[in-house]
Amino acid sequence: MSDISVAGAGMAGLVAAARLRELGRRVVLREKGSRVGGSMLLSSCVVFRHREFAAFRAECPGGEETLQRLVWERLDDAVEWLVARGAPVVWEETGNPRTVGKRFDPRGVVNALAGEVVLGADGRVDGPLILCTGGFAASSELVARYVEPAAPLRLRANAWSSGDGLLLGLERGAALTPGMADFYGRNMPDAAWDETELVALSQLYGRFARIFDEDGIEFFARDDVSWSETNLVAATARRRGAKAYYVLDEAALAERVRDRTVADLVAVAPAEARVPLADLPFEPPAGAVAAVRVIASITHTIGGLGVDERARVLRRDGLPIDGLWAAGVDAGGIATGGYASGLAQALVLGLAAAEDAARWFDSG
Ligand SMILES: Cc1cc2nc3c(=O)[nH]c(=O)nc-3n(C[C@H](O)[C@H](O)[C@H](O)COP(=O)(O)OP(=O)(O)OC[C@H]3O[C@@H](n4cnc5c(N)ncnc54)[C@H](O)[C@@H]3O)c2cc1C
Repeated sequence: MSDISVAGAGMAGLVAAARLRELGRRVVLREKGSRVGGSMLLSSCVVFRHREFAAFRAECPGGEETLQRLVWERLDDAVEWLVARGAPVVWEETGNPRTVGKRFDPRGVVNALAGEVVLGADGRVDGPLILCTGGFAASSELVARYVEPAAPLRLRANAWSSGDGLLLGLERGAALTPGMADFYGRNMPDAAWDETELVALSQLYGRFARIFDEDGIEFFARDDVSWSETNLVAATARRRGAKAYYVLDEAALAERVRDRTVADLVAVAPAEARVPLADLPFEPPAGAVAAVRVIASITHTIGGLGVDERARVLRRDGLPIDGLWAAGVDAGGIATGGYASGLAQALVLGLAAAEDAARWFDSG
């Protein structure tokens, strides 16, 4: 029996490798980084779907409907699969009325899916391969080419997902999906922070703020900020310096985001990002009492390699490339135009890729 190669030991790769082992196949899991877990290990690890499929479609209207349906329909069973493997559940529900799913302990997910991993190994192999390299957020060059921000975006993810899967797919004739400019990210304090602070420092209260750019233009109305705030992040990325100022009055500071007030969230932002009103590069609006300078940060890309429901990478003529699959963020075009769970996409497509690769070997 030949080995099946999986490139990338983040969410999708760990899932694909575990499923292949479960199906009795030999698998070589190659990880470029110095640790397993990818961005999943840094994440809040809420694996979710929209409560209604229609809401998913409405929120991500540019996405490929058949793939959205696959993720939406298969997620609940996939989550149970993860639980059955021993992944520790932290919350039984997402805490968001729009969505259904569970929050896991990320380290526990890694342990539950653990198997042999070759660390520090490029996933580029000649044979049959499942690409799970996590997209291209960590490549400032590819982000500049496809996302076209006004200035380089800060990386809010693992450092190794620099588009290796995308480039390998393109070399083998793959098609790219629509929506290559889309990304998921957060506005973060314009200050120094490290990968342990990616969740805690997310500035997720733009919907209560007045939002200005470096030129003093109020470029985004708070009423237009989506619940995930990703539309504001995308707009910030296109302003000078990819930066914005959130200007807050007393009422805004008293608003609540889950169990904290906006004032609490402002207080944890590093001091360099909390700008005295007198130092703003524009006249603050009446009633302003606080301002935070934020910078658009990228967690993962949304466009990527075109795949079908079996996670097979598609050529420009729509036919699958023999022996090449993509799962997780390497597979593009699912959340196009909006926001959906990257972990759900990685889980469902990781399973689908493994199952199809196992069939491919049987038939070959
Ligand atoms: C702070 C934060 C919070 C988040 N919160 C959530 C959340 O609550 N819910 C949610 O759904 N999503 C969340 N996400 C997003 C989620 O983590 C990603 O969508 C998910 O991890 C994508 O899975 P993946 O397998 O595609 O990529 P990853 O998990 O990032 O794994 C990719 C792996 O590929 C490796 N790799 C790259 N290139 C190569 C190569 N050439 N060869 C071998 N290996 C390679 C990388 O080192 C990495 O280990 C969050 C992310 C962050 C950073």
